[in-house]
Amino acid sequence: MTGRTYKINGARTRAPGFWITTRKRLSAEKGVETMPAVVNQETCNGCGECVQACPLDAIKIENEKAHVDPDTCGDCGACVDVCPTQSITLS
Ligand code: SF4
Ligand code: SF4
Repeated sequence: MTGRTYKINGARTRAPGFWITTRKRLSAEKGVETMPAVVNQETCNGCGECVQACPLDAIKIENEKAHVDPDTCGDCGACVDVCPTQSITLS
């Protein structure tokens, strides 16, 4: 089998977009608040590891710092796992 495997919250999947958007939709239907990722701008070093890890392309590097689009973020936590400076939290 080919294709990239993503590790999200300890689980491996080849369809992260489907997995995340389905979870997000179910949360919205149940009225559960989502928790988009937030980057500590003081400690982020702009390495881009989180950009590579994000299955939804929710992170951009601007002015050498990572910025998350909260509307695109699926709260999967993949970026949290790879950040070498522990700069990302799920709010
Ligand atoms: S992985 Fe961490 S340190 Fe690197 S760009 Fe992302 S938030 Fe910043
Ligand atoms: S938690 Fe991080 S990796 Fe997951 S969708 Fe949000 S920004 Fe992307």
